Amino acid sequence: MLHKVVQVRLYPTKEQQVLLAQTFGSARWWWNYALNKSIESYKETGKGLGRTALNALLPDLKKAENTCWLAECYSQVLQATTLNLTTAYKNFFDKRAGFPKFKSKHGKQSIQYPQNVKIVGGNVKLPGNIGIVKAKIHRPIEGKIKTVTISKTPSEKYLASILTEVEGDNPTTAEGKIYGIDLGLKHFAVVTDGEKVSKYDNPKHLAKHEKNLKRKQQKLARKQKGSNSRYKYRKLVAKVYERVSNSRQDFLHKLSYKLVSDSQAVIVENLHVKGMVRNHNLAKAISDCGWGTFTNFLAYKLERKGGKLIEIDRWFPSSKLCSNCFYQISELSLDVREWACPSCGTHHDRDGNAAINIRAEGIRWLLAEGSAVSAVGGEVRPKMGRKSNLRHSPLITEANTALGTPSQCG
Ligand SMILES: [Zn+2]
Repeated sequence: MLHKVVQVRLYPTKEQQVLLAQTFGSARWWWNYALNKSIESYKETGKGLGRTALNALLPDLKKAENTCWLAECYSQVLQATTLNLTTAYKNFFDKRAGFPKFKSKHGKQSIQYPQNVKIVGGNVKLPGNIGIVKAKIHRPIEGKIKTVTISKTPSEKYLASILTEVEGDNPTTAEGKIYGIDLGLKHFAVVTDGEKVSKYDNPKHLAKHEKNLKRKQQKLARKQKGSNSRYKYRKLVAKVYERVSNSRQDFLHKLSYKLVSDSQAVIVENLHVKGMVRNHNLAKAISDCGWGTFTNFLAYKLERKGGKLIEIDRWFPSSKLCSNCFYQISELSLDVREWACPSCGTHHDRDGNAAINIRAEGIRWLLAEGSAVSAVGGEVRPKMGRKSNLRHSPLITEANTALGTPSQCG
């Protein structure tokens, strides 16, 4: 089975807008209520509430005087909210995401229908009291409709994301290399396939464009407000800005294409750029260099061919861990590009060493979730950044197994 998502614009009537607002409101209220209950439960018992336990709260709430309006909400929408919340919790505990947030009525609003949405005469028919909503569907929707997410953007656009299931096979798991990537400021990306390390810098013309942009922006700032030349300059700056952003995208597309084309998996560090942006010197460089966009490009290109993007924990000490003996040094300031391991004496290039560690850590994950684990024999647990785990694991052997090369020791 293949899954596809099609996004279409919706044009609800005034009446439907009111009904949608009520449904958004109920789902949002339930999310916040359930999240709060989970947090309370966690404080009291050390455990959050599961999906069944949360759904079991709904019947009483629908009868209670203060919350009886919940009964008017299509019940599958509330249950989908519960599922999304418990998934968000799981992602948090598996370190894939931050802690679930309370939802505000000022943000993007969304609800999910897990089933029963139909396409009727080119429009979208929602179950419950809302009925047929006028839609602009550009291409025919293929396959069986599964989950449909209805959202309202802050600019008041209504959208439906329609997930469908189409007959056919999932792309078979891709074959090829496993790349570990260290994203950095000195080099945009340092990549290793387990054998050699390659460094990729931002292209020179991009730096030239950027310099040009900076100069023009400074000139613009000096122009008198409201003047004609300021207006002209602003348009000029916008054009240069576009050019810079286009060539950056172009670079990111080419590099991600290259890395995806001969690999089955790519491993990167989960950057949580916001956390790093606290360091002010780094802030500008990070927001300019497009790591997030790059990771997104890798993710969708890999998904298309059945490959995998693995993001590993940001607290994993990739730079400070000796990739040879797993000794962890306590300090490594940003300007130190090379170091020698005090334990085994191996000489490390900072970024190359980090890329090797990132790759090894990602391979642990791949093995932990796949059948290759049994081939390794040893205990492989998906725990990250734990020194003791890393020290005692035969990482290199595991890497060979994942790549299909016979392992030399077991
Ligand atoms: Zn060492």
